[in-house]
Amino acid sequence: MQTMKYWMLSLLALGTLTIHAEEKLLSSPDQQTTVIVNDKEGRPTYSIIYNGETVIEAAPLGLVTNMDDLTEGLSLKSVETDKTTNIYELRTIKQSQTLFMATTAVCHFEKRGHEVLDIEFAITNRDVAFRYRILPRRGTLSCVVKGEASGFRFPQNTLTFLCPQSGPMGGFARTSPSYETSYSYDEPVGKNGWGEGYTFPCLFKVPSALQPTKTGKQKGNKQADPAIWVLISETGTDGGYVGCRLLNESGGNYRIGFPQEGEMNGFGSTTASVALPATTPWRTITMGQTLAHIVETTIAWDLVQPKYEASREYTYGKGTWSWIIGMDQSCNFDEQKRYIDFAAAMGYRSVLVDALWDVQIGYDRMAELAKYGRSKGVGLFLWYNSNGSWNDAPQSPKHKMDRSGARRREMKWMHDNGILGIKVDFFGGDKQPMMQLYEDILTDANDFGLQVIFHGCTLPRGWERMYPNYVASEAVLASENLHFGQGACDGEARAAATHTFVRNTVGSMDFGGSALNKRYNADNKSGTTRRTSDVYALATAVLFQSSVQHFALAPNNLTDAPAWAIYFMKQVPTTWDEVRFIDGYPGRYAIMARRCGQKWYIAGINAQDEPVKARLWLPMFAPGTQVAVYADDAQLNGSRQDVKLKKAQLDITIPKNGGLVIVGE
Ligand code: CA
Repeated sequence: MQTMKYWMLSLLALGTLTIHAEEKLLSSPDQQTTVIVNDKEGRPTYSIIYNGETVIEAAPLGLVTNMDDLTEGLSLKSVETDKTTNIYELRTIKQSQTLFMATTAVCHFEKRGHEVLDIEFAITNRDVAFRYRILPRRGTLSCVVKGEASGFRFPQNTLTFLCPQSGPMGGFARTSPSYETSYSYDEPVGKNGWGEGYTFPCLFKVPSALQPTKTGKQKGNKQADPAIWVLISETGTDGGYVGCRLLNESGGNYRIGFPQEGEMNGFGSTTASVALPATTPWRTITMGQTLAHIVETTIAWDLVQPKYEASREYTYGKGTWSWIIGMDQSCNFDEQKRYIDFAAAMGYRSVLVDALWDVQIGYDRMAELAKYGRSKGVGLFLWYNSNGSWNDAPQSPKHKMDRSGARRREMKWMHDNGILGIKVDFFGGDKQPMMQLYEDILTDANDFGLQVIFHGCTLPRGWERMYPNYVASEAVLASENLHFGQGACDGEARAAATHTFVRNTVGSMDFGGSALNKRYNADNKSGTTRRTSDVYALATAVLFQSSVQHFALAPNNLTDAPAWAIYFMKQVPTTWDEVRFIDGYPGRYAIMARRCGQKWYIAGINAQDEPVKARLWLPMFAPGTQVAVYADDAQLNGSRQDVKLKKAQLDITIPKNGGLVIVGE
């Protein structure tokens, strides 16, 4: 009713020349979320009220171009609202069939009597998204976007879970930023990372007065500190814009930041060049009283469209990967042949051959290896350096992916030799030419029927839907760090209990994990020591989402790992029909459920010293259902048991660094 009243007031105001600020209320289909758009003092702002509580306080909107400053002197002239319902299917994300239902609105802004800017909103029952449409002027059909004011202003006492953006041209072979830093936890708002803001997605916890409503998690447990969880990200970025980050320059207000000057070896502008009319990528805000909406949101894909048709029917599945255990020296013919045999024994579809294969195996023998793989039903993914000239990463093959001519010749050779796909590494940041390179690699690869994995790279932003041959990106401190340092092994569970609620919720994550070796070395006797249990390895195969998974398993695991673990790793799917949050807290523990066909996989891990003890409410199972339970004892010795559920619930314990998996239908 209140909404109606506001609309009527707004309608009355229309048609009269008014100096009063316009205020428009836009509501989600379930009326639980309200977005208020305002043009007070000529500066457009928006705020968000969720379930009666303010989640985003009046925060700036608008952008600055080389034509005009579109953050001030603006007046909101009219708003068109509509309802959008759309069902789409996508095998490669968290949910295979998605119902997108939203209130959509276009807010028309004028400056000095000219229509200059539209701000489009899409409001679902769990997300608010907005983007800009910059309108052409007479004779001006292109412009440069110098920056955005787009802000996210949080209430007092909001806590943050954020991943700092690293400075440009730092780290290994001057390859940063590549979204490979550690998260901070439960920190107050107001910091700016290491001075360069934060990489998307960014998680916030806004204090709330309301207890969460039941969402399928344990019944009866009251949350000690009721909150509204808020995830900020962006989607729809392609070669037409820059990849953005989140900056904090003043207290509670975070704003969209453009790339850093030094990225790409200092080459290329930090601004975006666009043809008019131009639409920007979407800024997305996902909210919920538990982490369920964050885990289950599909907003990254709801708002984008495929940019081309798939050139063939792409398939997905599991693979092995020698490099994570054996490093560079393992990229030789005999060892790759051994991994092909291992993949065949596991029933896997692929082997990923990592860096230096061009030197250590060569093109002719690679063709031979690919032929051998085909005879075993195993395809190959080949590693490439994206360079180029944007950093010092020395690994070859180089200069094969940065320009169209060499790239297409290489891809033709791959196509002729039945290669499945590529893993391209060591990109140079988020400037527009680099975003164009991602798009060009994907587009060319599709012409040759190749799937694409990115490493040392930016976050994908809706790419599973935009590019049908896109598989996943690293954009995380991935499994390589478990090999490189004991510290990463010691903190493995903490990081995994974070990615589940942050990084992996907006895009497929190529982590390369699920090791069953005790040590990260081919002899399984030296190197860093895995602290996590075998059941943990199984659980992360479910928790981490990517339609193609190259696990860190090794051929020796066929004989030295528990038979139940190998059996599970042979069976576990890599594409899912549904995901449900069950319980957890970023950096502490994570329990969620994924469905493939009729079968549910409930997976949990724990990073805390105290074991997680809980009565899991499992409404997906009818009473009397027999489920397989993989669980750890206090010493992290795993086992598999068949359990008949009397009710749709189960008492579970997950020790520190341990795991849990329940499988049933
Ligand atoms: Ca990396």
